[in-house]
Amino acid sequence: MKMRSIRILSFLFAVCVFATCVLAGALTSTLSVRAADRVQPVEDEVVIVIDPGHGGSNLGTQSGHTIEKDMTMITAMTMYQELKKYDNVQVYMTHTDDRDMSLKERAEFAAGVEADFLFSIHYNASENHTMYGTEVWISCEKPYNAYGYQFGCLHLQAMQEKGLFLRGVKNRMNNEGTDYYGIIREAAALSVPALIIEHCYVDEERDAEYIQNEEGFAEFGRIDALSVAKYFGLKSSALGVDYSEEATKLQPASADSLVKYTLMDDTSPDVCEIELQECDYDTGEVRLTVRAADYDTPLIYYNYSIDSGQSWSRLESWPGSNALTGEYTDTFQLDLTIPGGVRPNIVLRAYNLADLYTSSNTLAFEQAFARQTGPGEEESGEPQESVPAAAPLDHTRKSIGTTTFMPVADEAVEDTTVGILTFLKLCLAFVIVLFFIVLTTQLVNYRRRWNRRHRR
Ligand SMILES: [Zn+2]
Repeated sequence: MKMRSIRILSFLFAVCVFATCVLAGALTSTLSVRAADRVQPVEDEVVIVIDPGHGGSNLGTQSGHTIEKDMTMITAMTMYQELKKYDNVQVYMTHTDDRDMSLKERAEFAAGVEADFLFSIHYNASENHTMYGTEVWISCEKPYNAYGYQFGCLHLQAMQEKGLFLRGVKNRMNNEGTDYYGIIREAAALSVPALIIEHCYVDEERDAEYIQNEEGFAEFGRIDALSVAKYFGLKSSALGVDYSEEATKLQPASADSLVKYTLMDDTSPDVCEIELQECDYDTGEVRLTVRAADYDTPLIYYNYSIDSGQSWSRLESWPGSNALTGEYTDTFQLDLTIPGGVRPNIVLRAYNLADLYTSSNTLAFEQAFARQTGPGEEESGEPQESVPAAAPLDHTRKSIGTTTFMPVADEAVEDTTVGILTFLKLCLAFVIVLFFIVLTTQLVNYRRRWNRRHRR
C-alpha cells in the first residue's frame, strides 16, 4: 500500500510538472507573438509625402498668438530634413509655402509622386480646453487600416517615451462608411495610404509644455521622422544607422482585416460607480473606491465634481490606461480633500477612447466638513451647500483593482493575454480536480481492502 501511494503521488507530481511546462510554453509564445513584420510591402526606394496641415486662409487651430498652419510647417520641415538623411528614400512636401490647398489636391500630389505613405501633420485643441494627449487617425479601409495601425503604434510608443499621454490609433467613419477625415479618404480613393498625426493639444497646460517655442515643434518633426525611418526599416550611411530590424518588431496586423481596436466606439462606458471608504469631517479627507468598465475600448480619463456636477475637476488620466494595449485598471482608490464648510455631493465621470463618458452615482454627505480657521479668520459654522467652481481640490489616487484587458482586436491581431490567463486558470482547476478524483478513488480502494482484510 505504501509503495502504491508513492507511485500515485509521483504520478500526480509528474502531471503538475507537465501542466506547468505546457503553461509556461504557452505564455512565452504569447509574448513573442506581439512583434510582427510590416504588413505594407515596399520597393527598394520608399516615397514619403509630408503634408503640413492647413495653410493660406485655412489657419487651423489657434492658441494665443500661435496658429496651427505655422506650427505644422515647422514640424513638417524638420521631418522632411531629417528623412532626407536616409538612403533609398524620396521625400516630398505637399507645399512649403503658405497657401490654400484642398485636401483633394494634397492627395493628388501624393498619388502623382506614387507615395508609399502620406503623413498629414496637425495640432489639436478641444472645445472646453480640457483634453490632452496625442493620437493618430488612420483609414478604415483595408489594407491601409493595418498599415496605419502598425505605424501608429510605433509612433505613439515614441510619443509616450517623450511623456505624452496616449489617446490611441483610431479611425472615424462618416455616414457613408468611408473615412471621415478628408485627407485620409481622398488619399485612399487614389490608392495612397494616409494618416493624420495629432501631436498634442495646444490649449491644455499639460501638453502646452511641449510646444513652448519653435524647438518644441521641431522636436516633434524629429520624432515623426524617426518613426517613419523605423516603420520602413530605413538605413542612413550619413547618420550611421540601420533600422531594418525595427520593421520586424511592429504590432501584429493583417492586410485582410480591420484592426477592431481602431474602430470608433459609439457607446459610453458600461459601468461607473463610486463608493465611500473613509471620511474625516475634521481634516476634509475623503477616500473613495472608483469602479468602472468599458467593454469596447479602454478608459482613458476621469474627472469629478463635489457640487453635483455644477463644476468639474480637470481631466486626469485613468489609472493604468494604455491606449495601445487596451489596458486600464477597473478599480482604484481616490483620495480627495474637501474644503472646509462644504457639504459635498460627489460624482465621477469615466471617459473612454472615443471621449464618451458615463457618470457615477452621487455620493451625498449628511453634514458639512469643518471649516479650517486661517490666520485672522473667524470660524463660521454655516455650512455651504455648493462649492465655487474654482474650488481647489487636492487629490491622490492608488490602483487597487486588477488590470482589465480589452477584447481589442480581431483574429489577426488578437491580444491573447485574456485567453492565456483563462486557460491557465482552467488548467489549474483541472489539475486540482484531477488530484482530488484520484485521491478519492485511492482512499475508497484502500478502505475496501482494509475492510476486506479486517473481515477475514
Ligand atoms: Zn489641424
